[in-house]
Amino acid sequence: MIVDKQSDSAISKRKFKIGEVMLDIKKILPLLGILVLVFLICGVLELSAAPKKHLIVIDPAHGGQDKGIALTDKVAEKDITLAVALALRKELSKENNLEVVLTRDSDKEVSLEDRKKNIAKIKPDFVLSLHTNAGFGKSASGFELYCPEFNKDFKKEKKTAKGDVRQEKNKYLNDSVRLARSIQENLNTLFPRKGRGLRRADLPITEDLFVPAVVVEMSFATNPEDKKKLLSQNTQTEIANALAKSIKSFYR
Ligand SMILES: [Zn+2]
Repeated sequence: MIVDKQSDSAISKRKFKIGEVMLDIKKILPLLGILVLVFLICGVLELSAAPKKHLIVIDPAHGGQDKGIALTDKVAEKDITLAVALALRKELSKENNLEVVLTRDSDKEVSLEDRKKNIAKIKPDFVLSLHTNAGFGKSASGFELYCPEFNKDFKKEKKTAKGDVRQEKNKYLNDSVRLARSIQENLNTLFPRKGRGLRRADLPITEDLFVPAVVVEMSFATNPEDKKKLLSQNTQTEIANALAKSIKSFYR
């Protein structure tokens, strides 16, 4: 009987406990419902309002005391690269899947080391560096494009490079070449028969950084016809639009 009594009281205790739990769940259920709803709404909002942002670095070469090539007494390469970079940023900022960072957005001197440090820190999806060309006499004209060689860095790491590292580097190179080809196509439309081709080189701006990159030599400051175009605000905007078109279509 004592045993029965004990089991009776154990049963009543369990019932009581179950009752407590039931009561708690009843209290918690609406809260859980609200939480699930909030998560769902957040998820939907994130999908519709925040697509993956591709980070693009635009590098207007030179700046400040580092004027680059002088086009006139007052205008130098640093002014042309900045004008095109600002117009390009304006154009790319209209895309909600692109985020644009400039290595400089005013006439200030930023060392190559600082530019590279910044690029290494933010790890962009693409670096576009802008220059104007010079040399080879006055007859040389047209735009030139450079893709990173990656070879030097690749050799350095070859012994330790694992499969995925190699794959990553191949992807960087493929992205660079694909973007460069698209830029070439769009600049060809703007400057027919002016393309001097796509070359591979060790690019100082991205050396050791392993990031997709293209350097655009926008045309020759030493060629009278090219210089006239480079100095025209209209052409600067047209170059920026041609570059923007390639970047937009690549990340669309
Ligand atoms: Zn330059």
